[in-house]
Amino acid sequence: MKTRRIFLQKAGMSALALNLSPFSPLLGANEKLNINAMDEKPLRVAIMGLGSYGSRVARAMKDCKRAKLVGVISGTPSKIEAWQEEYNIPAKNCYNYETYSQIKDNPDIDAVYVITPNGLHKKHAIGVANAGKHVICEKPMAVNASEAKEMVDACKAAGVKLLIGYRMHFEAKTQEVIKMRMNGEFGKILFFQGLSGFIIGDPTQWRLNYELSGGGAMMDIGIYSINGARYMIGEEPIWVTAQETKNNPEKFKEGVDETIQFQMGFPGGAVASCLSTYSMNNLDKFFLNGLNGFAEMQPSTGYGPIEGRTHKGPLNHPHVTHQTTQMDEMAAIILDGKKPLVPVDGEEGLKDMVIIDAIYKAVKEGRKISLV
Ligand code: NAD
Repeated sequence: MKTRRIFLQKAGMSALALNLSPFSPLLGANEKLNINAMDEKPLRVAIMGLGSYGSRVARAMKDCKRAKLVGVISGTPSKIEAWQEEYNIPAKNCYNYETYSQIKDNPDIDAVYVITPNGLHKKHAIGVANAGKHVICEKPMAVNASEAKEMVDACKAAGVKLLIGYRMHFEAKTQEVIKMRMNGEFGKILFFQGLSGFIIGDPTQWRLNYELSGGGAMMDIGIYSINGARYMIGEEPIWVTAQETKNNPEKFKEGVDETIQFQMGFPGGAVASCLSTYSMNNLDKFFLNGLNGFAEMQPSTGYGPIEGRTHKGPLNHPHVTHQTTQMDEMAAIILDGKKPLVPVDGEEGLKDMVIIDAIYKAVKEGRKISLV
């Protein structure tokens, strides 16, 4: 059926353009039932957690070609009302945290994007999977590897896809550097530097509450340097070492890391040297060094535009809102089985959680932790 759709698209035709009856013998069983299956069907998404990032994703989805915001899950009725108005969301697609399991009876929602605090991701993602809907979950996918594994297993058991909101995997300049690395243009890679940090404000926010955050800067922003090292170098780390600095134990309580410097060793001989912090601004930089060339990106993971250059010159790809591209690409992954350049599935998220566990262990035990 996919081949048939691609053929029709290539020919610039749809079943309607061909003037075929929905019951034509030229069409397959599914196509007879639903003529729209011949066209680009959108991924119909409900957002769970209408906070700051959920709002950004919703705005970005206005420009999507394959993904459509059709529903919401929120504990705040006034937010639901405002979103219904803004995004034309019917009442039958609105849920709260007590009722969202009923989404299983809603044929008009394909996937739920979980954008709640980190400590709730596991519960919410598994709840969505058990309701038979595909799960898109924000990073970090959970607060440790064991929770992340439970989520992967639950989604597999429910027969739904699990994707993690790694928007950088779809960003054009980032992809250009990854493709250059894949083509061997940097030569043997021996060094990566990742700097991720900002000064966090309000001490009462959930990001500084261990129960809801699962940690501190590492969970929130350090994960970009971990994930970035992996996609820039193109290997999985075999060891980590890490050192923590805490200057403000009042604000950064037990379990909430303020600043961690960490190093990761890769099988090909590369070392990544990274900084994760909630106490310094101007830290959003990747530097990749190979024997034949380099890539430098700053900013490297912010909302953009990303700025970068390699030994060949500046990266010039036009800026597109990251979340718009991400949601269209995720629609293609879920609906068409498209394979992304860099994975965004649950296993990919789990790899980062295993590394975060090891970094915390390295800090606690003051020694090198092996990952093999
Ligand atoms: P936020 O505080 O602005 O929003 C969180 C939402 O969750 C709120 O609407 C809140 O009402 C809701 N919520 C539900 N149950 C809650 C509870 N028990 N306690 C607190 N809030 C509860 O946070 P945010 O910045 O939108 O972050 C949400 C998630 O998105 C986090 O996992 C974060 O890491 C991720 N995020 C990702 C990116 C990215 O670029 N990929 C950027 C920002 C945030």
